[in-house]
Amino acid sequence: MNFIIQNGTIITMHNQKIIREGAIAIEDRTIVDVGKNRDLKRKYGRGYEKIDARHEVIIPGLINTHQHAAMSLLRGYADDLPLQEWLEKWIWPIEKHMTPHDIYTGALLTAIESIMSGTTTVNTMYHYTPKENEAEAFAQTGLRGVVGHVCFSWRKKEDKRALRDLAGKWHNKANGLIHVSVDPHSPYTVDPEYMKELKQIREELNEKYGVENTPIISHVHVAENVNEPEKIRKAFKIKVKDGVMKYLDSLGVLDKRVVAAHCVAITDRDIGIMKQRNVKVSHNPVSNLKLAAGISPVPKMLAKGITVSLGTDSPSSNNTADMFETMKVTALLHKGANKNPTLTPARQVLEMATTEGAKALSWENEIGSIEVGKKADIAIIDFKKPHLHPLHDEISHLVYAARSADVNTVIINGRIVMENRLLSSINIEKAMEMAEKAKANLLERIRRNVK
Ligand SMILES: [Zn+2]
Repeated sequence: MNFIIQNGTIITMHNQKIIREGAIAIEDRTIVDVGKNRDLKRKYGRGYEKIDARHEVIIPGLINTHQHAAMSLLRGYADDLPLQEWLEKWIWPIEKHMTPHDIYTGALLTAIESIMSGTTTVNTMYHYTPKENEAEAFAQTGLRGVVGHVCFSWRKKEDKRALRDLAGKWHNKANGLIHVSVDPHSPYTVDPEYMKELKQIREELNEKYGVENTPIISHVHVAENVNEPEKIRKAFKIKVKDGVMKYLDSLGVLDKRVVAAHCVAITDRDIGIMKQRNVKVSHNPVSNLKLAAGISPVPKMLAKGITVSLGTDSPSSNNTADMFETMKVTALLHKGANKNPTLTPARQVLEMATTEGAKALSWENEIGSIEVGKKADIAIIDFKKPHLHPLHDEISHLVYAARSADVNTVIINGRIVMENRLLSSINIEKAMEMAEKAKANLLERIRRNVK
């Protein structure tokens, strides 16, 4: 479909350009023109459907670089616990009972929530099964995503089979909406040999299925809290000195294709290594605060020129997929923690949620900004709201005042997936019902202790 978005204020996130009374022309999946409304109106008249964006602000769709989409089924199941107790006593035991259908259903709910809050791309790490999975849920809703399979030392054989199936069936599929990733869970659950092997597998899969602009990447939790070196010592009898990144670097697994989630308990030496290897960071402030994991040294990494993007983490450690909330918390957290109100300013935070997110996922050739030639991934935000008046600065409002419910219309890959808060691809009521039913069945299986 060809269409033109008219009369809105466009925050392009390209060369800091803001176009008031602007227009965007979209043909098929791609942005073909961006400029002043009066110029584009003449060029793209007949044959172009019109979206009126008066009183609205148009931004590149937000990019969430750390999710476990299926875990929406566990939202509110266990809160207010320390990370290890939360994982080992609550989350991992219930996850054993989750079926492929549960995974699909949970991911469907997260995909809907993401779209409704202006997120157009989600990087998700979970268990892949050929039968039903997160990729299918994303493709069905029209959400763009990097879908991974999480790997653990205790199930190498199953992991390898799953990775091959995932890459073959889904990489660059669904009209290019879905990319895939190889996801070692963490340095304390994946032994050093397996960590190296998984990088090798990623490269093999890239040779087979990847092309230069759309590579298969790695996605791993790193240094989520200060206990990680101790956990690595306990699991593999390895003494980690000078930081977890340094340890990973000693294995030769760090490079520009690695998205490292959290990076909370990292040393200055780690930061130097990350810069050198061009490791990409996903910062997850809400989850880190909720699990009291600590505060990631984001301003230090940004000052070094490291790519820092934003993630929500799972719906059971956040407990939403709301990137507007994550932007605001990011902007506030580092000011407060460092007693310096000039840190993480609004523009920088919006970059972290858009252009930097695209770079983190090695997808910057196609998404992250509104410019000619990129895929049309766009969120349109209704600014005709009391909390967004008066208007001095759109970017300030986007980070400090706007709410996810202000997102009105969302376009992904040139397709209008939400218009005036109505989803075109999926029945929301039905998806919520499915989630409630899946939750009830899951709890029943736990009670009876059957898989
Ligand atoms: Zn996580």
